[in-house]
Amino acid sequence: MARIDTLRRFRRSFTGRLMLGILVIHFVMLPLLFGGVLYIVQQGYQNQFVLHVRLNASRFASLIIEEWETKRVQELLDDAVFSGHVVFAEATDQNGRVVADAVDQPERRDFKEDFFYDRHGDDVYYAGLPLVDRNGIRRGELRLGYDETSTEAQIALANNRGLYLAAAYVLLSFLLVFFWGKRMTRSLEHLRRASRKIASGQLEEQLEVKSDITELQDLVEDLNFMRSELMRQTASMEHLASHDSLTGLPNRMLLSDRLQQTIASSQRNQSSFAFLLMDLNDFKEINDTLGHLAGDLVLQEIAVRLRATMRRSDTVARLGGDEFAIILPAAQKKVIEIVAQKLHDVMEQTFVIENQQLQLGGSFGVALFPDHGDNSTDLMRHADVAMYEAKRIGSSCVIFRDDLVHDTLNQLTLAGELRKGIARGDMVVYYQPKIDLRTGTVRGAEALVRWQHPKRGLISPNEFIAVAERTGLIEPLTFWVIDEAMRQVKAWRQMGLQLDVAVNLSARSLHDRQLPDKIEDIVRKQGADMRWLELELTESMIVADSLRAEEILSRFHEQGIKISIDDFGTGYSSLAHLQKLPVSVIKIDRSFVMNLSDNENDAAIVRATIELGHALGLTVVAEGVEHQAALLLLQELGCDLAQGYYFAPPCPAAEFEQWYGQSSWFNRLAAN
Ligand code: C2E
Ligand code: CA
Ligand code: CA
Repeated sequence: MARIDTLRRFRRSFTGRLMLGILVIHFVMLPLLFGGVLYIVQQGYQNQFVLHVRLNASRFASLIIEEWETKRVQELLDDAVFSGHVVFAEATDQNGRVVADAVDQPERRDFKEDFFYDRHGDDVYYAGLPLVDRNGIRRGELRLGYDETSTEAQIALANNRGLYLAAAYVLLSFLLVFFWGKRMTRSLEHLRRASRKIASGQLEEQLEVKSDITELQDLVEDLNFMRSELMRQTASMEHLASHDSLTGLPNRMLLSDRLQQTIASSQRNQSSFAFLLMDLNDFKEINDTLGHLAGDLVLQEIAVRLRATMRRSDTVARLGGDEFAIILPAAQKKVIEIVAQKLHDVMEQTFVIENQQLQLGGSFGVALFPDHGDNSTDLMRHADVAMYEAKRIGSSCVIFRDDLVHDTLNQLTLAGELRKGIARGDMVVYYQPKIDLRTGTVRGAEALVRWQHPKRGLISPNEFIAVAERTGLIEPLTFWVIDEAMRQVKAWRQMGLQLDVAVNLSARSLHDRQLPDKIEDIVRKQGADMRWLELELTESMIVADSLRAEEILSRFHEQGIKISIDDFGTGYSSLAHLQKLPVSVIKIDRSFVMNLSDNENDAAIVRATIELGHALGLTVVAEGVEHQAALLLLQELGCDLAQGYYFAPPCPAAEFEQWYGQSSWFNRLAAN
C-alpha cells in the first residue's frame, strides 16, 4: 500500500512527469525513427547485394564464354558453387539445353529469374545472363543463384544492434531525466523548505538555492523579496504592538518583557536594579480643564523629558494614562537617589502647552531588585505601593518599605468591602440640623453618610470617602445618598416638617456632565421637589475645574437646586470669583468656628467672611458650633444659620425627628 502511494507520488512529481513525457515521446517517435533507419539500412544491404551479384555474375559470364569451347565450363560452375556464395549455376546452349550445371541443394534447381532482392521467397537470388562471345554472337545463357541468407543475417544483425542502441538510448535518457529532474526538484524541495520557514516566521535567513535555472533564480529572488518585505512588516507590526502610539515609548507589554529580561540578567550577574513607577500629579485637571489634546501634549513632553534624563540603557515606558515606568539596570540605592532628584527636577519644570504655563510634578515609587521582590509582579506591585505612599504624603519619591504593604492592603480590602457594603445596603444617612439664628427655626439638615459595617460597626465617612473617590464607587454612593435624602425630606414634608436637605458632592462627580440630569431623574422618581435640595461643594473643586464647574453649577441653578460652598476659608478662592457663580450659601469651615470665642484671628476671619458674604447677597452658615459662646458671637456678627454639636450631632432620621419634636434646641437659642 505504502509502495503504491510512493509510486503515485512519484508519478505526480516533477521528475515522474518528465519521465512519463519522455516515455510517451519515445513510444511515438522511436518506432518511426527506428523503422525509418532500419528501412534505409535494409535497402542499402539489398542494393549492395544486388549490385555485387550483378557484377559478379557478369564477370563469371565472361569467364564462361572464354572457356565455352573447352571442357572447363563444368569445372568452373562446380568451383563457383563450391565457393559457397553461389548456390546454383547452370549454362545452357542456344537451344536451352543444359550444357553444364552445379547446385548445392537439389530443390534450388528451380530457376525463377529475380529482378529484386528477396523475390519468390526462396532465399536465392536468381540471375540469368546471356552468353555472348567476342563477335557478338549469342552462344547460350548462364543462370546463377546467389544465397540471400547471409545478407539476411546481416540485416537481422543490424536490426538487433539498432534495437540495443535504441534501448540504451531510452535507458540513458531516462537516467538523465531522472537525475536532472532530481537535481531540479532538489532545488525546488529546498525552496519549499525555505518558504515553510518563512511561513513559520523564521525570516532572518537569506534564501539561497544553487541553481542556474533562470526561473528558479527568479523565484528565489522573489521569495527573498517577499521575505524582506515580511520582515519589514513584522518589524513595524511588532513596534506598533510593543510601543505606545502617543509617546512612542515602550508600552506595558514591552516593559514587562524588559523587566523579565533584566531580572534574568541580574540574577545571572548577581546585581541589583531599580524599578520606578511614576504617576503625574493633577494630570486629570489638565485633561479636564484644557482638553485631551493638551493632555496628550503634556504626556508627549514628559516622554521626551524622561527619555532625555535617562541613559540609553534604561527603559522608559508608558503604562497608560499618566503612568510611566523606568527600569534602571545595575543601580545602587545611592544612584537611585540621584536619579530620583533629577526626575523630580525635570518634572517640576514648567510645561508650556498652548501658551499656558503649567506646573505638574509627579510621584515616583521605587522597588529594588532583589530586596523588594525577585519577580516582576512583586516589583510592580511594590513600586505601585511606594508611589501611592509618595502621593499620600506629598513627596516626589518614595522607596518601598515593608510596612507600606499593610496600609495598602487595608486600603485594598477596604475598597473591596465598600463595594460589597454599598450593594448589601450597609450605608445609612445621618442628618444634622441647620438652625436659623434669627428665627430659631430648623431650616434644614445636612445628609452625612455612614457605613454600618456588620463586623466593624459604624464607620466614619472620613475613612471611606477617599477610597470611594479613588475607586469610582463615589458615583453610585452619591446617587444613593441623594435618593435616600430626597425620600426622607419628602416624608418629613408630608409630616409637616418644612425642611430642605443638603448633600455633599465629591470633586469627582463634577467630571460627569450628565450629573444634573441624573440628579433630576432621582428627584423626580422620588416625587420630590428640586428646590428642597442643596448641594455642598468645596471651593477647591470649583477652582480646579472652573469652566466645567461653572457649566454644571448653572444647570443646577436652572433646576432650582441651591449651591453652597463647603469648608469655606480653607481654600484660596476669592469671594469675588465665587460671585460669578450661581452660589447662594457659604459654609464657614468648622476649624474657624470651633474656637471662635477664644481665638481672635478666627473671630476676625469669621466676621470678615460674614460681612463679605452678605455684601454679595449670600446666606452664611457656620458649621462646627460646639459652645454657647460661639453661638452668641455668631448671632452678634449676624450669621444666618448654624450647625454643630451644640444643637445636635448628625443622627439617624428617627432620632432627628425625636429631637425636632422636643425643641430643646429652641430653648438653647432662647436662653440668650
Ligand atoms: P463636612 O461636609 O464638612 O461635614 C461636616 C462634618 O463635621 C461632619 O463629619 C459632622 O459630623 C462634623 N460636625 C458637625 N458638627 C460638628 C461640631 O460641632 N464639631 C465638630 N468637630 N465636627 C462637627 P462627618 O459626618 O464625619 O463627615 C465628614 C466629611 O465626610 C464631611 O465633611 C464630608 O466632606 C464627607 N461626607 C459625609 N457624607 C458624605 C457624602 O454623602 N458624600 C460625600 N461626597 N462626602 C460626604
Ligand atoms: Ca458638608
Ligand atoms: Ca464642612
